[in-house]
Amino acid sequence: MILVMKNGATQENIDSTAKQIKDWGHDVSISKGEYQTVIGIIGDKQNLAGKPLQALAGVDKVLEVSVPYKKASRDFHPEDSIVDINGVKIGGGHKSIIAGPCSVDSYENLILIANAVKKAGATMLRGGAFKPRTSPYSFQGKGEEGLKMLAEARKETGLPIVTELMSEKDIDLVYQYTDVIQIGARNMQNFALLKEIGKLGKPVILKNGIASTVKEHLMSVEYVMSGGLNDVIICLRGTRSYETAMRNTLDVNLVPYIQKLTHLPVIVDPSHSAGKREFVNSLTYAGMAVGADGAIVEVHPCPSCALSDGDQALLPEDFDYLMEKIDKLEPWNQKDWNKKLANMQNSKLGNK
Ligand code: PEP
Ligand code: MN
Repeated sequence: MILVMKNGATQENIDSTAKQIKDWGHDVSISKGEYQTVIGIIGDKQNLAGKPLQALAGVDKVLEVSVPYKKASRDFHPEDSIVDINGVKIGGGHKSIIAGPCSVDSYENLILIANAVKKAGATMLRGGAFKPRTSPYSFQGKGEEGLKMLAEARKETGLPIVTELMSEKDIDLVYQYTDVIQIGARNMQNFALLKEIGKLGKPVILKNGIASTVKEHLMSVEYVMSGGLNDVIICLRGTRSYETAMRNTLDVNLVPYIQKLTHLPVIVDPSHSAGKREFVNSLTYAGMAVGADGAIVEVHPCPSCALSDGDQALLPEDFDYLMEKIDKLEPWNQKDWNKKLANMQNSKLGNK
């Protein structure tokens, strides 16, 4: 349920209403917009049956939130959320490009990549130390040694780091080193893990599962948020469909769609969608053009030596080219378009 406050509701109204809801045993999420404040009520609405919500100070409307992903939903929080990672902002018009190797192999490679992507305009460095591989005999990641290299690269470049957490047993270790916790496709529905990371207070990038629906993805986001974390970045890394031409299918339709449903930043991962270097730049460009809040891409100076995902690794010079193109791109602004559409419809229907 949400309480939409009156235009002129005072801070005192907001505080007293929020306090009353808490006294009735519910948590609240307060979202202040330019003109209106929305108080989201978290928990089972049955407990509020018969309570005089409409009569609380400053309340204009009491509305039901019909979607099951409450904290993630735009009804609860009409304004875009901006996730701030050590000063790097993403969401609400702030775009961020995260780049780096699929897996950390050597410090020489990592620092070379980190410096190169920073110079080209990347705002964060990615790199896996725990790798989810299809075969147990493939390289599994360098573990803590890899995390230490990432931390060194952060010290050297100032870029915040993003790395994948695969298991509950590694939470403390990964937490110590990383700035953003990545949850990959294979763990999108590892609910025990999602609940735990929601309590840590560190920003999370949550990718979709290999064949998940939007609703399933958003319910996983809700698991993380239910632990108290608001800093969740939704990542589209493509899904497996009937089409086997590429590694996965990046559904760019979903960028504006998910942005409409939620207030959280939405980024694309064209590397794991394309699976091939030659298509990564065009897909990244498409994702940014449609209005994504950012992208995460894999870069390696020697793709044939990379210990995972070499086929889809961009060379540093490919990444330079991508960044030049993105820099000149004027991304689609769905919100402006929605306003224009509404005006056009109103005038066509003769509405004021
Ligand atoms: C990765 O980012 O290297 C990775 C394994 O991603 P995904 O979970 O999307 O497959
Ligand atoms: Mn990878």
